[in-house]
Amino acid sequence: KDILKIGIVGYGNLGRGVEKAIKQNPDMELIAIFTRRPPETLDCEGPAIAMDYITDYQDKIDVMILCGGSSTDLPEQVLEVSKLFNTVDSFDTHAKIPEYFDKVNDCTKASNTLSLISTGWDPGLFSLARLIGQSVLPEGEDYTFWGKGLSQGHSDAVRRVTGVKNGVQYTIPIENALERVRSGENPILSTAEKHKRVCYLVAEEGANQEEIEKTIKTMPNYFADYDTTVHFISEEELTKNHNTMPHGGIVFRSGVSGSGAKQRIEFSLTLESNPEFTASVLVACARAVGKMAKQGQTGARTVLDIPLSYLSPKSEEELRRTLL
Ligand code: NDP
Repeated sequence: KDILKIGIVGYGNLGRGVEKAIKQNPDMELIAIFTRRPPETLDCEGPAIAMDYITDYQDKIDVMILCGGSSTDLPEQVLEVSKLFNTVDSFDTHAKIPEYFDKVNDCTKASNTLSLISTGWDPGLFSLARLIGQSVLPEGEDYTFWGKGLSQGHSDAVRRVTGVKNGVQYTIPIENALERVRSGENPILSTAEKHKRVCYLVAEEGANQEEIEKTIKTMPNYFADYDTTVHFISEEELTKNHNTMPHGGIVFRSGVSGSGAKQRIEFSLTLESNPEFTASVLVACARAVGKMAKQGQTGARTVLDIPLSYLSPKSEEELRRTLL
């Protein structure tokens, strides 16, 4: 059997997750990890290589998994790397995905490479769940709930508040909203009606905790519209109880079939480690990209364009025999 040769670009949470996930897939081999930092500073097992030498690997890697951040890394790196390699990335700025797709499509068509963009769990598996829901139940409503999970953006926002030394923010679905959706009521719900926010903060010595709480609860866009709870804890507690990156969520399609019978689809994820799970999705998608590239496909693709059997290491005959 062919072994799929993988490269990792960027070694943060996601990059570390991809390195571990490749080990769970015997049909893949990690060739190198490319980084903008001095390679010897990375605590990785695989060979770390400076980004400047990436061109030396053109014929040695089938698919590059891009693990940079969505805000500034990926929009730059995808255009550079896809000139020479097939790529997979997790670009998750939802509103900018169409524009990102067009840029990557132009670049990869010119270079005869294939790039799968914006995969992971949302966008990614949740996008597939929404597609299936809408296609099967054309009369209905979509609902996406996120959490319970640690939100990077909101955690950054609370850490910037004066007097806050450290902290995290969890986004938590509101049980009553979930129940209303499950009952088939099809309510109209704003994001704030679907989620509450809970912060665990370490205050600087002598900081005014009441003032911090007020600043957070009235912060526009981030917290003002939400039911927000603020807890002050010690640095030890933060390190002990809030050091993983759990996440998850639920996609619902709630609708009716021909006679008006209520039908509900529910796709749920409970993740102890968001980056490791996202990495596992990227790795399965890299397998699909390897197969599609072998067929001569070029250009940009999303998770909606992958034949699902391509995600699996099993033969199509075996999949038909065991899954249908
Ligand atoms: P990180 O901040 O951990 O890593 C991003 C990049 O920063 C790395 O590629 C690395 O590049 C650099 N970096 C990492 N650690 C350090 C360090 N200690 N010092 C300096 N530079 C460092 O981001 P994540 O891996 O957590 O997330 C990456 C992206 O994944 C997110 O921006 C998010 O958009 C996306 N994501 C998508 C999901 C989805 O469902 N689609 C779900 C979760 C995340 P280098 O090695 O070159 O320095």
